[in-house]
Amino acid sequence: MIRRDTPKTGGMRKSMVEELERKGFGNAAVREVMGRVPRHLFLDSAFEKFAYRDSAFEIGEGQTISRPATVAQQSALLETFPNAKVLEVGTGSGYQAAVLDGLGCSVYSIERQKNLYLKTRQLLSDLNTLVQCFYGDGYKGLPQFAPFDRILITCGAPFIPQELVGQLKVGGIMVVPVGDKEQIMTKVVKISETGVDISEHGSCNFVPMLGKKAED
Ligand code: SAH
Repeated sequence: MIRRDTPKTGGMRKSMVEELERKGFGNAAVREVMGRVPRHLFLDSAFEKFAYRDSAFEIGEGQTISRPATVAQQSALLETFPNAKVLEVGTGSGYQAAVLDGLGCSVYSIERQKNLYLKTRQLLSDLNTLVQCFYGDGYKGLPQFAPFDRILITCGAPFIPQELVGQLKVGGIMVVPVGDKEQIMTKVVKISETGVDISEHGSCNFVPMLGKKAED
């Protein structure tokens, strides 16, 4: 690959992580991984210099890469552990999936836009991650690989998708932004086969989780 990590991008990444720490986003383990994953490679090369600012960014197909603070927050709320089986809904740029991979999780990620799915699957493989990418509808999850220890939804869901709660292990955790235009970061802990414990963690802004398949 022509694009790579340089002392300059490494330096920008270090500043990003210091900013996250100053502002209290994420936890030490998550920030350590974010200090290693080359975020600029998940953006178009023209936007490389914006890669380490704390803002979301267009990645094509009208979709965005989540801002670093949001990735740090969601990753920490998920309380991952080594070898945890994690389902991510909304592969997008692949950055969040790469962070989960860096945390040692076994990551299954679904994207409903075919072009993004194809492009990001290639990138995640070029970067030597073990993330497994799937093209499909996140509302349906991946029943053939269920149950999951953790489920992370990286688009705004109008409600907590029950089908996905069904694919979570008892004791498992789902992190999902719930709402329409603006969402509430919501953590769902599955405490029994039929019971969940729900907590809210501030407002956030994601592109919508869509039901129907996109035009390809
Ligand atoms: N995790 C991504 C964030 C991507 S933005 C990153 O780190 O870059 C949200 C993504 O969710 C978009 O790519 C969008 O196409 C996708 N998406 C929206 N609805 C979906 C659905 N029902 N199933 C799977 N992906 C969906």
